[in-house]
Amino acid sequence: MFSHHVTKEFSAYVHGELSSEESRRFAEHIISCQKCHTKFEEIKLGIKLAEQLPRLSAPDHLWEEIESLRARQAVSTTQFTPRSFLNNWKPQVAGIAAIVLLAIGLAILWHHRNRPAPPLGPSWRVARLGGTPKIGSAGIGNGGQLGVGQWLETDSTSKAEISVASIGQVQIDPNTRVRLLETQPTEHRLELARGKMSARIWAPPRLFFVDTPSAVAADLGCAYTLEVDDAGSSLLRVTFGWVALELKDRESMVPSGAACQTRPGIGPGTPYFEDASPDFRQLLTQLDFDSSLSAAQKTDALLKLLSQSRARDTLTLWHLLGRVAGSDRERVYERMAAFVPPPPGVTRDGALQLDQPMLDQWRDRLEDSWTNSNLAPKSLKAW
Ligand SMILES: [Zn+2]
Repeated sequence: MFSHHVTKEFSAYVHGELSSEESRRFAEHIISCQKCHTKFEEIKLGIKLAEQLPRLSAPDHLWEEIESLRARQAVSTTQFTPRSFLNNWKPQVAGIAAIVLLAIGLAILWHHRNRPAPPLGPSWRVARLGGTPKIGSAGIGNGGQLGVGQWLETDSTSKAEISVASIGQVQIDPNTRVRLLETQPTEHRLELARGKMSARIWAPPRLFFVDTPSAVAADLGCAYTLEVDDAGSSLLRVTFGWVALELKDRESMVPSGAACQTRPGIGPGTPYFEDASPDFRQLLTQLDFDSSLSAAQKTDALLKLLSQSRARDTLTLWHLLGRVAGSDRERVYERMAAFVPPPPGVTRDGALQLDQPMLDQWRDRLEDSWTNSNLAPKSLKAW
């Protein structure tokens, strides 16, 4: 880990000028240092805005003025006086100045777009791990390049490994279809249409995303597997760090050791630790995705789930708090408070009304029982 702040390395990192070892250390520092993380987010935002600047064309009348300037030039050279020069040329001087400025602007844009950035180029290296993976319709030999918009597909006997710019690796299991959607210094995005992938990412949070049919997985500095079945449902299992699963305003934060399912039309379910009891997990699946349950059946399932919960399962309960209502929410609150009382400043009423700063405070307190990793995000909303 960098022992000092990494603000000086931002530019080198964003332009892919750090070695992969330096990138990894940079990312580790960003993950654990709130100060550098905040600065980095600001810089990412600035770059994104700059990328959205439109390219401007010179207005037609400027070109017409240039033509008429040329026509007049012959005349004015024969009857030149300083005064007549200024009188005749004032608007044209302004026009030329505008063109020069425009040219400088375009040159800067061009230079910016053409900066050499080898590790963050427009394609990702793909290595063959077995069988014959295909990019588009062509089988790759020992290796290939996956360009933006291209599909990488494995059949029942093939496997591949993708190098994600300089920030990580993704292993593609058999019977899997993935597509590279975007690779930019501020965002790398894959689409997993079906099958299974394992990712190991050493980037600052929220640089690497995977779109699935029922949620988006946002990397928060981590290792995980993601599986999508033919119905578009997915299962995320995190082995290191944190991953956020998102769909619209629904978000699940999944730490190491935990998993989370998603369903088309519903989005991410509630995260749970994989060592929770089978009953607990089955009840949670019911609560999250079984739309045929009556309110009474839901309450019944919830009570059973609460009675099965351990201190560590407050991960699940914390997420459930906002996903159930009325007396069900009160029951979740009581169970959580019995494990880890809310810290000073967090009131029962506030928590039941889903006051976000209060929930975040309580979450910080709960996290000790979720993970001993010091890589835990400090605040849900900030990440
Ligand atoms: Zn720092």
